[in-house]
Amino acid sequence: MPSETVLVVEDEPSFVEALVAGLRREGFVPKIARTGREALALFDVHQPDLVLLDVMLPGMSGIDVCRELRRRSEVPIIMVSAKASEIDMVIGLEVGADDYVSKPYRLRELVARIRAALRRAPPRPSGGNAPSYVVGDVRLDRERHEVTVRGEPVDLPLKEFEILEVLLANAGRVVTREGIVRAVWSGAASDDTRALDTYVKRLRAKIEDDPAEPRRIVTVRGLGYRYEL
Ligand code: CA
Repeated sequence: MPSETVLVVEDEPSFVEALVAGLRREGFVPKIARTGREALALFDVHQPDLVLLDVMLPGMSGIDVCRELRRRSEVPIIMVSAKASEIDMVIGLEVGADDYVSKPYRLRELVARIRAALRRAPPRPSGGNAPSYVVGDVRLDRERHEVTVRGEPVDLPLKEFEILEVLLANAGRVVTREGIVRAVWSGAASDDTRALDTYVKRLRAKIEDDPAEPRRIVTVRGLGYRYEL
């Protein structure tokens, strides 16, 4: 059975750690987002099988994230909230969540609900649905694992390919360095965002006309990178 990807949207580190370890033990592939914006960005990149969505998030609330995800997808969404409030539950279900769990929960119960939600989910088209990204004259084909610039193939090692994928999936928006590191080096937040800069430098050398004056992958000081539309 292929491992199912679960996007965990949660801002409390203590929760994330235990949850991610538990999900891994149960055979899931967890991906972590700490904010709503990051959740939406990672959703596009990973196309998870299920989203576990905390209601109380800094900035954009879980309710808003849920509403936004529903515009894009039928993915099963389980809302998680610290307050066992019926109002939260009602709103959550109204905006399209499939299920609702209140904290504190037992991992076994949560996993049972995840499996139930996955069983109820409509089958996803398999194969041939990996998205391609075309921005300007750069094209990334996930399925064929191919990148072309003006129709010319560019040879990218896996990490560079994945970084470009994250940036293209979010073209026109800033992606934080931490967000890219988490997406590409899945799971444990690496402190080593400096390594990322090295990868980006190599990537620019391959896809920029003038790597010293990048026009595709631009640096947003103090934040991260943006792929220019
Ligand atoms: Ca929270």
